[in-house]
This record gives sequence, structure tokens and C-alpha cells, in this order.
Amino acid sequence: MSMPKVPRTCPVCGSGERSQVFAEETYDASRIGQYAFASRKLPEYMHYQLLLCADCDLLYASPVPDSGSLAEAYRDAAYDSSLEAACAARTYARLLTPLLNRLPDRVGALDIGTGDGAFLKELLAFGFSEVRGVEPSSAPIAAAADHVRPLIHQAPFRRDDFLPQSLRLVTCFQTLEHVPAPLELARGAFSLLKDGGVMFCVVHNCRALSARILGRRSPIYDIEHLQLFSPRSVHSLFRAAGFQDIRTKIILNRYPVKYWTKLFPLPASVKNSAIAAANALRIGWLPLTLPAGNLAVVGFRTRPK
Ligand SMILES: [Zn+2]
Repeated sequence: MSMPKVPRTCPVCGSGERSQVFAEETYDASRIGQYAFASRKLPEYMHYQLLLCADCDLLYASPVPDSGSLAEAYRDAAYDSSLEAACAARTYARLLTPLLNRLPDRVGALDIGTGDGAFLKELLAFGFSEVRGVEPSSAPIAAAADHVRPLIHQAPFRRDDFLPQSLRLVTCFQTLEHVPAPLELARGAFSLLKDGGVMFCVVHNCRALSARILGRRSPIYDIEHLQLFSPRSVHSLFRAAGFQDIRTKIILNRYPVKYWTKLFPLPASVKNSAIAAANALRIGWLPLTLPAGNLAVVGFRTRPK
């Protein structure tokens, strides 16, 4: 997999002069497997050169593969994480609950980077109508439940695929890191929201304690992540897209023991033994709640009354 790479300025604030190298590239094309662009895979500890923007606190990769190569990589990425997706969707649904009574209605919801549509099920359960998802990879869509698969459009997010001001809610979980132009995505989402509509995202927090302790062994440093947010940079992103009443919140994730084991920064042999041990002890599927270094962010189109 050889992908031509292009340099870029900060994809949130556009600034280039005040960005400094945070980490040199560790990318090795020979180690790329079919899961490299899949969600919730085993971390590979490979990343492109990372720059830190002093203006907005965004950590971003540059140079990065051109958008055509990325689109191709995502379309063909493998998928094997339905259970983890369902756990994550439960966590996000719990976070959405307190926002629901601030919405005038539940007509029109879009989940960007919906994967197998696990969160679409949650939206339907909340009583949303006109629920849709977009997902660029074919494998998770094939794994979607029969009743949600028809709601998923296989494509990267493009605002022109939807009617302006037609949505009450746009969600985007663990996806803003992956897109080459996060500001374009946020502005597109803003344009699709009705007045009083809300955008709700979850991103990895590169300022989280876990990321600071693990350092470069943290699974968030990965070739799939073209940028990594902090409370300050994600706030900048939402503000630049036009959102008001922006809130960020550190979140706790509930996943099976098995998945946490997969994320730990251990050598592959040790990690595989740990996963085998967890399975043998039959504790692999027990749910465990920990701060995984995720950040929720919410912004309104026009300030709620
Ligand atoms: Zn910036």
C-alpha cells in the first residue's frame, strides 16, 4: 500500500507558522495489514509526523496521504468489532439522554461514520424519525443489523447529499480524527442542522491522563488519526464551524475486559496471552468502566432559549 503524501497546515485554525514537530514519523508500509484502517483494531504504534499547533492546541499529522488514497483504504478496510461498537453506542446514548429535552423535536438525525449502525439503533429507540448514517467502509455495513442497514449510505460525509437545515441532531463518534478536513465536516454538519439543532461528537483526548502516562505508546497515536483533539482544540473546531453554547466533557467508557486488554501497550505476544487468559477465565466479556481518554463535545446551532 503506497500512498502519495501531501503536507498541510492546521486543519482546524489554518495556521502553519506556529506548529512544531511533536513526534517524528514511525510509519512502516511493510507492517500495514488489512485492519490498519479498521475501527477498534489492535494498535500498531505507527503514525505519521505529528505537529502541535500552538494557536489551537490541535495535534495533527502532516504530511498525510492524499484524500483519494485514504478513501480507497477506508472503503476496503476489514471489520470485526460489532460487540465493541454496541458497547460504545450504549455509552454515547447515555451521554445523549440529558440533551434530549433541549431539542424541540426528534425529526432528522444523522450519524457520521456510523460503522455497523449501532448508534442508529439507539436513535430509533429514542424515538427519532428520519434517521440516517453515512459510512465509507463496506465491511461494517455488511455486518449491520437488517433493520438498520437500509438507513446507511455508503460514502464519506458530504453535505450536498442532504437537505440544508433538515436535521435536529448530527452525531459523529471517533470519526473527526480520521477525516482529512474536520472543519469542513463540522461546517457541513452545521449547515444541515435546523435552528436549535445540536451536534454531538466524541473524540480521543490527547491531553487525557492516560495519553500522558502512555506517551507515544498510547493507541491514539496511529496512522488512521490525522488529527488528535484536546478540550481546547475541539472547542476551536466547533466555534469555527459556527456552533454556540459549546460544552466539552471527559467521558467514561464501558467495554468488555477483553477489549481493554487489546488496548494495553504490551508486546503482541504478551497481549495475545493476556487475551487468551481473560478468555480462559471467562472474564473476557465482563464489562469494565474506565476513563479511556475520550472527550464528548456538544454544540448548538443558535443558543437554546
Ligand atoms: Zn490550529
